[in-house]
Amino acid sequence: MAHTAYPQSYYAASANPVPERPELNGEVETDVCIVGAGYTGLSTAIALLESGFKVSIVEAAKVGFGASGRNGGQIVNSYSRDIDVIERSVGPKQAKLLGDMAFEGGRIIRERIAKYNIQCDLKDGGVFAANTPKHMKHLESQKKLWERYGHTQLELMDAKRIREVVDSDAYVGGMLDMSGGHIHPLNLALGEAAAVESLGGVIYEQSPAIRIDRGANPVVHTPNGRIKAKFVVVAGNAYLGNLIPELSAKSMPCGTQVITTEPLSAELAKSLLPQDYCVEDCNYLLDYYRLTSDKRLIFGGGVVYGARDPANIEAIIRPKMLKAFPQLKDVKIDYAWTGNFLLTLSRLPQVGRLGDNIYYSQGCSGHGVTYTHLAGKVLAEALRGQAERFDAFADLPHYPFPGGRLFQVPFSALGAWYYTLRDKLGV
Ligand SMILES: Cc1cc2nc3c(=O)[nH]c(=O)nc-3n(C[C@H](O)[C@H](O)[C@H](O)COP(=O)(O)OP(=O)(O)OC[C@H]3O[C@@H](n4cnc5c(N)ncnc54)[C@H](O)[C@@H]3O)c2cc1C
Repeated sequence: MAHTAYPQSYYAASANPVPERPELNGEVETDVCIVGAGYTGLSTAIALLESGFKVSIVEAAKVGFGASGRNGGQIVNSYSRDIDVIERSVGPKQAKLLGDMAFEGGRIIRERIAKYNIQCDLKDGGVFAANTPKHMKHLESQKKLWERYGHTQLELMDAKRIREVVDSDAYVGGMLDMSGGHIHPLNLALGEAAAVESLGGVIYEQSPAIRIDRGANPVVHTPNGRIKAKFVVVAGNAYLGNLIPELSAKSMPCGTQVITTEPLSAELAKSLLPQDYCVEDCNYLLDYYRLTSDKRLIFGGGVVYGARDPANIEAIIRPKMLKAFPQLKDVKIDYAWTGNFLLTLSRLPQVGRLGDNIYYSQGCSGHGVTYTHLAGKVLAEALRGQAERFDAFADLPHYPFPGGRLFQVPFSALGAWYYTLRDKLGV
């Protein structure tokens, strides 16, 4: 079988050394078989192994091959749709549980980095940058909302203050979250994979799950092997394809693109982002950026509905970067890549159980670095029989894309056009 390699990203080029991992050959028995070695799968595996379960992971390509090894590296707390939307769609008890968890993912990441000594360039501090007065009002109400759930570390920034942390004319203000921050995402995934193995878990690479036999004793089949397990956790997110048809109807893979500059001079890097915080703006189709440990600017933005790979990523993203930082006009782009995240109509994650023993979490629609770490912990709690927090997610309502799978792309492209227009008009 042909091996699938990492895309040519800055992250793959600067990845920490990794061991060779086996393909699955023959039959294995375990307590939990996890499909997918991104943050959802790895985080679930660590939480389960720490509580004494036997765990095997099958990964279609390599650890962190999907969004977890390609993302902007931004530790952004809360969900892609915020607690006000959750409060409107669920009861107060469930909203309270979800609101209390909104900042937990960032803490889990930091705990794992410290406990397993993961070298992934962790930096504290994330900025939500307001492009318009309307965005600023939104941030003010979001701060109040988060404070109601005990998340009180946030600082609103006026136009003068944000200039002290981002050297750009693009913003009228913002909000600083020191519990946000950034990491080298692929090295976080690789470090978590090493943690899984240090706890006795096994990861099979180049081993796609091609079929899951459901029932009292589920079996996960790969081209050359099978795993019999008491439980299965499906963590393939936007790369899962149609392995579980019930899951694909209510979600859609979308591509988003990232570029990385050549290393900047120390002075230029320091002038752009003096405190080395990461930044995301408040547009619906948002831009996000940060410095790397070797002082490149990583800049992401744009969405391609239906996850087709655009031909010239630099041509799409570079103008966005220059809009925020015209001073980078002569800077060369060394890397450009695309990756897929999974969108749901509500932009809230899809979590649940198929039958008694197949669990899933997917579709966090963007802010997935923290959510996936929380999801792993919550899925592990459910497998241990403590399902209160799992149920809070599982009860979130989800709807199929109007018109079904075939119409998902045009429908959402229309939505994207509408939101781009709204972003441009600042309404
Ligand atoms: C370009 C980009 C930038 C982003 N930037 C940010 C950011 O800055 N901050 C943020 O919070 N979020 C960001 N996100 C979102 C975030 O990266 C994702 O939400 C998160 O990484 C999803 O993790 P996951 O483990 O669920 O899925 P993935 O990381 O996609 O992992 C799924 C894994 O499952 C494997 N798989 C799929 N099907 C099978 C199968 N049948 N058998 C075996 N294995 C299978 C895949 O190969 C893959 O490795 C970004 C996403 C992208 C694409």
